[in-house]
Amino acid sequence: MLEIPPGVYYKSIAPCICPIVNYCSHCGEKVVFRVPEGDNLPRHLCDACGTIHYLNPRLVIGTLPEWEDRILLCRRAIEPRRGFWTLPAGFMELGETAEQAAIRETLEEANARVELTGLFTLLSVPHVDQVHLFYRARLLDLNFSAGAESLEVALFREAEIPWEDISFRTVSTTLKHYLTDRGSGEFVFRAGELKAQG
Ligand SMILES: [Zn+2]
Repeated sequence: MLEIPPGVYYKSIAPCICPIVNYCSHCGEKVVFRVPEGDNLPRHLCDACGTIHYLNPRLVIGTLPEWEDRILLCRRAIEPRRGFWTLPAGFMELGETAEQAAIRETLEEANARVELTGLFTLLSVPHVDQVHLFYRARLLDLNFSAGAESLEVALFREAEIPWEDISFRTVSTTLKHYLTDRGSGEFVFRAGELKAQG
């Protein structure tokens, strides 16, 4: 059967993150990259112990915390996009629910306590193998501060949002939908896809 060197398939579809498995995490032998019997996509296979190492997209989960007419944003202290503003969000951990992830990330990045008020956006980002989910959330108090991954945390009115310095398109897309819906008085869940640029 045709064998493709590990990483080639992922490099062709996801040049940015390209997760590569070289060795079997079960037995330590080198893996090969080919289509398993009964499958239709190449996978990282261990011929020594038979393990198939599946790679799947990752979930990034966050909140859009509201306080009256203002929105909480965090300025990133870490790469990628250090120094840019973001909604509090991060990778979902094993063993937690999506809601727990949203609340935890908001606490970690902004030391902010929130009550979730509904899932608002679900944005697939296939060129980096991620799906981003944002919940609307009500800030419970104003005792927030920068967490370890933030340089600063602040509340912004619509006219104050630093659009040129927003970290990720999923964040700016979520903010735009939010402001549109707030203007119309009805919040509507949005699902969509962000394609690679240029
Ligand atoms: Zn193995």
